Amino acid sequence: MDFNLTEQQEMFRKQVRKFSEAEIAPLVEIMDRDNSFPHEIRPKLAAMNLYGIPWDPKYGGAGSDFVSMTLALEEMARVIAPLSMHVQCQHTTCDRFLKLGTEEIKNRYVLPICEGKMAGCFCFTEPDTGSHPKMIKTTAVEEKDCFVLNGTKRFVTNGMFADVALIFAKLEGDINIFFVDTDTKGFSRGKKMEKLGLRGTELCDLMMDDVRIPKENLLGGKGGKFDALKDAMTLGKLCLSAHCVGLMQAALEEAVRYSMTRMHFDEPIFDLQAIHWLLAEMASRLEASRWLTYRAAFLKDQGTDSIKDMAITKLFVTQTAVDVCRWGMQVHGAYGISKEYKIERIFRDAKMYELLEGTSEIQRELIVKRLPR
Ligand SMILES: Cc1cc2nc3c(=O)[nH]c(=O)nc-3n(C[C@H](O)[C@H](O)[C@H](O)COP(=O)(O)OP(=O)(O)OC[C@H]3O[C@@H](n4cnc5c(N)ncnc54)[C@H](O)[C@@H]3O)c2cc1C
Repeated sequence: MDFNLTEQQEMFRKQVRKFSEAEIAPLVEIMDRDNSFPHEIRPKLAAMNLYGIPWDPKYGGAGSDFVSMTLALEEMARVIAPLSMHVQCQHTTCDRFLKLGTEEIKNRYVLPICEGKMAGCFCFTEPDTGSHPKMIKTTAVEEKDCFVLNGTKRFVTNGMFADVALIFAKLEGDINIFFVDTDTKGFSRGKKMEKLGLRGTELCDLMMDDVRIPKENLLGGKGGKFDALKDAMTLGKLCLSAHCVGLMQAALEEAVRYSMTRMHFDEPIFDLQAIHWLLAEMASRLEASRWLTYRAAFLKDQGTDSIKDMAITKLFVTQTAVDVCRWGMQVHGAYGISKEYKIERIFRDAKMYELLEGTSEIQRELIVKRLPR
């Protein structure tokens, strides 16, 4: 076992931290207060090679690994989680194109996504279901020279501005994956959702009303894409865990900083035993979460990750993030609920992660089904 990051990974982490503090931090207000995505950051993210960290350079990727991707998502989320969410979405879209697409399709979509010229989105949730993809109602009907899509996708990250959407739909009763250019006739967007946390990811519904797409837009051939969805979601679970590590790191830093300046009877509250307990719990759980997440990334690099490993990681890390960020808020006393302090946003963002890529209840189901008996 080797718990050390390579020199390259350490260097990359430092570069992303510096970049995040210099270029991403000034965007926090626009994202959180205005619930807007700052498009001016896209060429900068691309220039830093942050849109395709583990992907092959021939498709515009950085040719690095999933551990590095994890470090980058963590560092960006330490500054503002929804930006990390946007970057993750670009990765999960490309992941499916790379696994299931032809050379022509990879060049048409992965390259411009990595270059920041195109945005992608990944759509399985619908008004009637998010937890049970087999219940989706979006349909695809095959005609002589095209497929015709009908249905609504809900809570789509990047939805307001994505150029291409990966759509999970039923064809002849079976789950399939299609990709749709969002300017195709019959494709429309709902209004931007106002939400508690992860503001600025521009979540919305996507509607398809007789959307006609070429036959080549069926990704990876006909049928049997439930496993492809589960596989895609293992990457999603790793990414979300990385964001939560970044959020917990930020919560701890804010709690330490605040407790050293807040005075009670001429002593900083940092000196109180009750505050020590909170900070110690926060630091310990952050560390456990961090290493569970890095292990998941390592397994992905080895190609030995499993749904169970990823579900365990996602369940533990996202639940822990809510506790750690809540304790960070507790250290701030009543000031913790003020928008003047970063912890207020961090706490709201942390809550979102228990609901994404499978709720905590669904992770428990995934784990228990796979326990040896
Ligand atoms: C910020 C954000 C971004 C998102 N981005 C995307 C995106 O880009 N693309 C996308 O497709 N989706 C996205 N989603 C949707 C998300 O993945 C779903 O909301 C999630 O899967 C839960 O689905 P649901 O809300 O329909 O809950 P439901 O499935 O209706 O579940 C409701 C409750 O019932 C519980 N429950 C349901 N079934 C079971 C069961 N079998 N056992 C135990 N408990 C159960 C759930 O845990 C939950 O507590 C996003 C959501 C959020 C909040």
